[in-house]
Amino acid sequence: MADWDKIAILKIQSAPQPPEGMIRLSGPLEHDNIVNGDGLRAVVWTQGCPNHCKGCQNPETWDFEAGMMIEIDEICKRLAEFPGQTGLTFCGGEPFVQPAACKKIADYVRKELGWDVWSFSGFTHEQIKAAGGEAWEFLKSLDALIDGPFILSQRDLSLRYRGSKNQRLLHLELGTGKILSIE
Ligand code: SF4
Repeated sequence: MADWDKIAILKIQSAPQPPEGMIRLSGPLEHDNIVNGDGLRAVVWTQGCPNHCKGCQNPETWDFEAGMMIEIDEICKRLAEFPGQTGLTFCGGEPFVQPAACKKIADYVRKELGWDVWSFSGFTHEQIKAAGGEAWEFLKSLDALIDGPFILSQRDLSLRYRGSKNQRLLHLELGTGKILSIE
């Protein structure tokens, strides 16, 4: 395993977690979004990212102490009030450093609202799988993952939902995390 992967796994496993029942967000919930996944989507913007990619568009989301702490039940209640959405996307910040909280929201919108669930991550599918624990459980609750860090030298604005060529849009098998197809 490369040193880069070992560092990524450590970042996932050692990130500070919000208190039980809470999640740290960087901004208000969004709805009617058509640029962060297929269909009409709500978006949860998480706060805290250890990756610090050069050229990141949201550096204000890096600080683990910034943003706002909100009850997960309150997030679910607000999401249920958005009409006509087909899915939810987790953006960041880095959703996979708050995986238990994100999974609770993912499970709620799938079961109660019938939405599909996507997430962005600066980590790769392989790194998240190797990290295991709650991060892997969250990944297994997704329909799609856009993975990998933003790399400025590989920037490409023509890609669907991604900023750089190294990033992949992975369609996943629900419940197993298996990669079904790669864009
Ligand atoms: S993983 Fe995303 S939020 Fe984090 S630094 Fe990279 S581009 Fe920014």
